[in-house]
Amino acid sequence: MSYIQEVRNAVAARNAGQPEFMQAVDEVLTTITPIVESSDVYKANAILERITEPDRQIMFRVPWTDDNGNIRVNRGYRVQFNNAIGPYKGGLRLHPSVNLSIIKFLGFEQIFKNSLTGLPIGGGKGGSDFDPKGKSEREIREFCQSFMTELARHIGADVDVPAGDIGVGGREIGYMFGQYKRLKNVYEGVLTGKGLPYGGSLARTEATGYGLVYIIQNMLESIGNGFKGKTVTISGSGNVAIYAAQKATELGGKVVTMSDSNGWVYDKNGIDLQVVKDIKEVKRGRIKEYADQVSGAEYHSDGKVWQVKCDIALPCATQNELDISDAKTLIKNGVTAVGEGANMPSTTDAINAFQAAHVLFMPAKAANAGGVAVSALEMSQNSQRLSWSFEEVDSKLKGIMRDIFNKTASAAKLYATPADYVAGANIAGFLKVAQAMIAQGV
Ligand code: NDP
Repeated sequence: MSYIQEVRNAVAARNAGQPEFMQAVDEVLTTITPIVESSDVYKANAILERITEPDRQIMFRVPWTDDNGNIRVNRGYRVQFNNAIGPYKGGLRLHPSVNLSIIKFLGFEQIFKNSLTGLPIGGGKGGSDFDPKGKSEREIREFCQSFMTELARHIGADVDVPAGDIGVGGREIGYMFGQYKRLKNVYEGVLTGKGLPYGGSLARTEATGYGLVYIIQNMLESIGNGFKGKTVTISGSGNVAIYAAQKATELGGKVVTMSDSNGWVYDKNGIDLQVVKDIKEVKRGRIKEYADQVSGAEYHSDGKVWQVKCDIALPCATQNELDISDAKTLIKNGVTAVGEGANMPSTTDAINAFQAAHVLFMPAKAANAGGVAVSALEMSQNSQRLSWSFEEVDSKLKGIMRDIFNKTASAAKLYATPADYVAGANIAGFLKVAQAMIAQGV
């Protein structure tokens, strides 16, 4: 049995009942095979055994009181996966589906994504099974304070720097930052995605969505193409989806769909983002309201956005939201490029189908790395006690995304198949972390 297969079996046995984590591990192990088999150094240093086992996994009770005076208890997580190249860095997710498997898959992917950015950040992820939907402002605040009361002892500006993710935006980061400061009596860049008056970075809100569109534009340019004149379908209507739609529109694409967990909207004239922003960012409402406000737009509570004919598909909601039947529909309808804004939104079968059909496919580790990259730029600004202009951050983001595209494309060409960006991103991300781990000893 090969070294990779041995490790894969051991990881599966040790992490039974964690399908999302195993899906992420399988994808990485499969695609880095040519590298691992090219030298004994990885086996001799037990790199695969070590990189698949988190440095530490913290689980804790998060008690809070609801508006009726009932005491409620959620479970909090922080998985500090690997800090070979920098402090742990990765978001916090608040969603009822959160469990250890999901946090571990996200933390594992974060190691390689953060490495690809070229910035000094390790991999981690956290969150809770708390459901922010329908909660009052006071309930959200109390939950965030209680969550940080435990988390504070495990993080720090040079230790572990969390950010937002699903269900965690500027409001939640603000409450958590306030509680950290109260507990530690220290003003430091311990969280990113902060508000502008207290250490946030310009362009952080836009970074993941903009970065996604920048790298897809790079990928399209490599075949003499671009967003201009293309029909784009996007899923989700949160932070990533909104700013991906904004940049895709700016570059001349027409975005025709957006969704949330209840349903999706189709607007053949192109989504009016001001309406979406007002519903989602201001009123915290449902995407259904878009069809009530914009004439000619359709709302569907069944099916998915992937049934709409498009040239470019950008899944920006959640893991495994695009399966093999969605991939087949997209291919049949002539999709030419897919870019993952969400983390692991495509199932393994769907990715295989896209690649077999020669659809250009950019995986999440490369495609959505713009968010964490600008988070790392926020850390730099905090350390220097400086703040850079929007244009400065945006231009650095563009450069980072181009660099990620180039690294991913050349690793694919060198070690796998040209345009196999899944292998390219995993290999380029892995090599740097493995070298650092070897240099630092066991
Ligand atoms: P938000 O909470 O802002 O938005 C999430 C969107 O996805 C909402 O429209 C939400 O709908 C929808 N969604 C969430 N869960 C589900 C589900 N189970 N089924 C259907 N729809 C769902 O999160 P973000 O935009 O920040 O994150 C979206 C994705 O991008 C995630 O995979 C995240 O890990 C990834 N990502 C985010 C980064 C960031 O900087 N924010 C950075 C890199 C990756 P509803 O409101 O109904 O729940």
